[in-house]
Amino acid sequence: MLAGYSEDEKQSLRELAILFLHHKIFEGANGFVVTQAMTLIIALQASIPILKLGLEGYQGWVSVIVYPAGFAPKRVIVDEFGVQHSVQSNLSGEAWQRGPVVLAWNDTEHAGIIDGHNLVIHEFAHKLDMQTGDANGFPPLHTGMSSSAWFEAFSKGFKDFEHRCSRGKHIGINCYAAASPAEYFAVLSEVFFERPDIILQHYPKVYQQLRQYYRQDPLTRLSKRNLHARNI
Ligand SMILES: [Zn+2]
Repeated sequence: MLAGYSEDEKQSLRELAILFLHHKIFEGANGFVVTQAMTLIIALQASIPILKLGLEGYQGWVSVIVYPAGFAPKRVIVDEFGVQHSVQSNLSGEAWQRGPVVLAWNDTEHAGIIDGHNLVIHEFAHKLDMQTGDANGFPPLHTGMSSSAWFEAFSKGFKDFEHRCSRGKHIGINCYAAASPAEYFAVLSEVFFERPDIILQHYPKVYQQLRQYYRQDPLTRLSKRNLHARNI
């Protein structure tokens, strides 16, 4: 996964992961024992989105809860008519505003495979998004970035993606991204770090915004990664 990263970037990731381990608390759920190796794998992957943003992006909460496998919490929701419903859905990860990040270890373990899907990056992208309140696909932008450019790129991209998914046209991005603008941001963040070429091909304006937001250009790593793979 780190094949395309420079030595300086790897060193920064290492330092961020150490800081992450120092500031966050890992808890196993359902009696699951979280080993040091597991905390390292999670901390390192969680450090990728904040490589150029710093640990400040993950301020205001401390817990990472790890389930052995997918979990199905029972929740009570109240609908628009005030009627309570008990719902239970299968999840492999969750991010709570000002609360914990919840991960299923079996999906986290495989997150290092480069397939455009990465549960850890997904949940921590939600955390970045939640810095300004509810997750809505609009994280706090940096000075010099344009809110209208972000909004235009993401709203057009989201509509186009919804349309493609409803017609069954798959382009290598999980259709879960069509669930909401918040999921579009989180899923595209996964793809941005693992398969940036897919976003650049289909949503170049979204790619430019993500590049400015994360202050990283994973496409440059892709060519190094391919070179590395050929040399193995
Ligand atoms: Zn999500």
